[in-house]
Amino acid sequence: MSTDAGKERGVDNMDEIISFAKRKGFVFPGSEIYGGMAGIYDFGPLGVELLNNIKKAWWKANVYDKRNYYGIDSAIFKDPRVWEASGHTKSFNDPMVECRSCNARLRVDKELEKVGVNADEKMSEDKLQELFDEYKHKIKCVKCGSNDFGKVRAFNLLAQSNLGDFTGTNENPAYLPGEACQGIYLNFKNVVDSMHAQIPFGVAQIGKAFRNEISPRNFLFRTREFEQADTQFFVKPHENEKEYERIKKERWDWYVNELGINENKLRWKRHDNLVFYAKDAWDIEYDFPSYGFGEIEGIHDRSDYDLTVHSRASGVDLRYTDQETGEKYIPWILETSAGLGRVFLAVLCDAYTKDILDGKERTVLKLKKNLAPIKVAVLPLLKNKPELVSKAEEVFDLLLRETNAIFDISGSIGKRYRKQDEIGTPHCVTVDFDTLKDNSVTLRDRDTGEQIRAHIEDLPKMLK
Ligand code: ATP
Repeated sequence: MSTDAGKERGVDNMDEIISFAKRKGFVFPGSEIYGGMAGIYDFGPLGVELLNNIKKAWWKANVYDKRNYYGIDSAIFKDPRVWEASGHTKSFNDPMVECRSCNARLRVDKELEKVGVNADEKMSEDKLQELFDEYKHKIKCVKCGSNDFGKVRAFNLLAQSNLGDFTGTNENPAYLPGEACQGIYLNFKNVVDSMHAQIPFGVAQIGKAFRNEISPRNFLFRTREFEQADTQFFVKPHENEKEYERIKKERWDWYVNELGINENKLRWKRHDNLVFYAKDAWDIEYDFPSYGFGEIEGIHDRSDYDLTVHSRASGVDLRYTDQETGEKYIPWILETSAGLGRVFLAVLCDAYTKDILDGKERTVLKLKKNLAPIKVAVLPLLKNKPELVSKAEEVFDLLLRETNAIFDISGSIGKRYRKQDEIGTPHCVTVDFDTLKDNSVTLRDRDTGEQIRAHIEDLPKMLK
């Protein structure tokens, strides 16, 4: 068995990944049998495993491996005043223009970026209008190709629900979270009181977010429902800079070391236009096929803004009392916020490889083993030999108790290996005629195709 490393190549374009993800049970379009729903996706049997493995790796790095981080899981619904206080009802906006020919809505900052203009959603409406007027001749409607557009307008991204409204007027809508992190601010005092948390400390949470994105597109990159994995690190005022550098480094290292993402495909991008309270803001970007570099995680130095506004609006004193000096203050916050759909997509694109094994091209998902949806496939060499099948079932039962194993009986053994390579299964165990004699099986490695002989009773240990 040999691979030709020189001939290894990655994914050609995003369409290849989208069709692969559907065909292999990673990601399905949401409500597909009704024609699909813009910006909504479902994770299939293999996708949910990969997603959960990414979450496990994130939770381990941000809760279990840390002395002073606590995990929480706050409710999706929150008092509507939360979104007033945080500023989301007024200023959680994206700049939009409408195409006069087909009424399609375009996001102004993203369209400007596409034609090489440095713009972002935090610029004033006037500035964006000025830039848009200057470069309009280069911009075409994504739907109909026209370049006849209306005025730049702010579009609020918060999605509303009528939960708890029995009047039919919904004057006080219960919003869906525009970002998951608000639940951490609301529970800051509860964590301090219940866990005796002492500053500096962090709170971690994975939660759902919903945004009425003007033009959801680019597959999992811009969706209307997604998950965010957030940490908020609470520090003494002005003690932000050193911790910010530590956090930035840890987050970069997590992508490279824990998710196995190729470092050359990642880059830092600093925000040029900071909101008034922010001290600093950086994004980690991944170089996606077809789309190019796009943000997967934001790392923000937010000063005392969040707890100050919630303290003011709720009337609850959210100041922290220093245990030694008795000093009271509103902590400053350093935030990390990763969109798990985008991280999932980066992991999938990065692992997707075409190489030559034994002279033949194959597709192999070179996922880190801890991320692989299925850890081992058990394969009887031939399906028409009942004694092989029943021995293989015995091995399967043993491994099922240890790990996420799969049993596959269909097609030639070579085809079954390729099928497992394609979905990233690190090992295949083949039961053959020798197994019946000496209880040994072949254990095949996904990346090299190499096979070794192993005893059945040693498999659980070897697979770990
Ligand atoms: P963008 O500029 O791309 O709209 P953002 O700056 O608004 O993103 P944040 O508010 O910082 O994003 O959210 C933190 C993370 O949540 C992002 O780094 C991204 O991974 C993820 N995210 C944000 N919006 C979406 C979306 N519509 N679909 C999927 N993930 C998203």
